[in-house]
Amino acid sequence: MDRIRPARPELDDLTQYDAREPQAAINLSSNENSQNLPKDVLEKLAENMADFPFNRYPDPMASKLRTLIAEANGLDPENVLVGNGGDELIFNLLLAWGGPGRKLLNMPPTFAMYAIDAQMTGTEEVAVPRLADFSVDADAVLARLAEGDIDLVYIAHPNNPTGNTQPETFLIDVLKATDALVLVDEAYFEFSRHTMRPHMERHRNLVILRTFSKAFSLAAMRVGYVLAHADVICELTKVRQPYSVNRFSQSVAGMVFRERVVFEGEIREIVRQRDVLMHGLSSIEGVEVFPSEANFVLFRMAHASAVWRDLLHGHDILVRDFSRTPQLEDCLRVSVGSPAENAAFLSAMGEIAAQRRSSALFGTTNGEPMQGER
Ligand code: PMP
Repeated sequence: MDRIRPARPELDDLTQYDAREPQAAINLSSNENSQNLPKDVLEKLAENMADFPFNRYPDPMASKLRTLIAEANGLDPENVLVGNGGDELIFNLLLAWGGPGRKLLNMPPTFAMYAIDAQMTGTEEVAVPRLADFSVDADAVLARLAEGDIDLVYIAHPNNPTGNTQPETFLIDVLKATDALVLVDEAYFEFSRHTMRPHMERHRNLVILRTFSKAFSLAAMRVGYVLAHADVICELTKVRQPYSVNRFSQSVAGMVFRERVVFEGEIREIVRQRDVLMHGLSSIEGVEVFPSEANFVLFRMAHASAVWRDLLHGHDILVRDFSRTPQLEDCLRVSVGSPAENAAFLSAMGEIAAQRRSSALFGTTNGEPMQGER
């Protein structure tokens, strides 16, 4: 055959996700923990490696990890599902509650995978855009829910990439207003320290998402989990790939979860460093900083894409460019790195801003790409 039958038409306007990013000495683009696992955890892992049963399939439900997570959250294992990163669970919820003829209420700008997964599963995205300060438009959301046709609501709390949380009263109003599943995505919960967990008993439609990728330095292992009513977990179990969480990831996540108190100091330091970044950025003329409760900071400045390129090519620093996302024009997002990385970033930003000011003064640039840019 010299041709290929076309894929589903829903995929036509989806661009392929290529996670390969430019290489940089300082990578502050993906909201990871800048520190690898603590040394004693790495040593313990190495010790266990020799007789690790690589030849055996994993436990499909990650029972040991599931039980640990349930106990820590005062729940039963039936209320927990472990996934291949939070990403898989976001997708699985749409497989089970979305699909053709069903609707996801989304509040952009937010985590891009919500809308992409909706499109992939043939779910209609009902977008209620956030206000100019990135708070949710509570009245519009509640009015839309009152129409009674929404099947799923996704709320990132704190929101990525804007960094803000919503008032708890709004989240409770949403839970009360609908029987749709309400996913409160707490991927950055360890930094905001706010959780909707206390509301699970009263609101059966509440689903909470967490991940090991951020605070717990395990982005490479792809482990996330949801806390939900047992009936919700039961439905999700029908659509999930049985062996999606590999044995090695289950084992490492279990070890890290048991030792999670050792991350406390690091999490406090990340929060302190986030404030250093926010403060440092806001003291640069022409930069608008949005308050963050996560491990990253969103900021706006003129010609953001050119600044992004200056950071990469002139200073070997990679941040995330959101300037082509609606409502995020001229916005960049920087993840909190180590104190040295953050200092290097702030110093680079100071230099770039000063250079741009003096060039503008002498008419050598109109804000378009400068030295080192392609
Ligand atoms: N939710 C939000 C809001 C995120 O920002 C991310 C990661 N960027 C995830 C979920 C998924 O994280 P992971 O798949 O690494 O667990």
